[in-house]
Amino acid sequence: MSFAELGLSDKVQQAVTSAGYTEPTPIQAQAIPHVLARRDVLGIAQTGTGKTAAFTLPMLTLLETGRARARMPRTLILEPTRELAAQVEDNFDKYGINHRLSVALLIGGMSFGDQDAKITRGVDVLIATPGRLLDHFERGKLLLTGVELLVIDEADRMLDMGFIPDIERIVKLVPFTRQTLFFSATMPPEIQRLADAFLHNPVKVEV
Ligand code: AMP
Repeated sequence: MSFAELGLSDKVQQAVTSAGYTEPTPIQAQAIPHVLARRDVLGIAQTGTGKTAAFTLPMLTLLETGRARARMPRTLILEPTRELAAQVEDNFDKYGINHRLSVALLIGGMSFGDQDAKITRGVDVLIATPGRLLDHFERGKLLLTGVELLVIDEADRMLDMGFIPDIERIVKLVPFTRQTLFFSATMPPEIQRLADAFLHNPVKVEV
């Protein structure tokens, strides 16, 4: 399987070549065509498998079509820690070099002012930790009704860190008709229950 066969846009394929990748990892080969077909995906994969590119590359391709309503975010990626959220932002910088997208990182330890200003200017991609995202929502600065694609990453770590009630609240703030990608390294019963609640007829991908 080559990157050219996955259905990614030319812009994304150029960025992948610039990154020096020669072939997709198994999670990328399995997940990317389904994401591009706008299916919900349940991905069982650890960090280090190329999981981040498995969602960022097709997400960038999908963002090339359609447009934001009233400058609202079109995609939301939830990460359990600031470090993981920052890594996802680095991935967007690397793979999105040919795109003119506005990406906002909403994590604790940074001032609300800068993040508010960015949201007000208009953001395509939000990368957030759950608590900080809800803080922004409660401040009345953020509308999530334009979200087309939701990524819940590292779901089992979200569970360990006590973030599931926050995630359940956030999922109620995005449209029911969104596409959802849900990744976890393990699938204990509590995580399976959440996957069943959040995903609509998902494709299961396991590496
Ligand atoms: P992740 O599992 O998303 O944390 O990715 C692990 C590492 O693999 C990152 O440093 C990526 O830059 C790298 N990577 C992702 N996809 C590929 C690929 N297709 N070929 C080579 N390296 C990759």
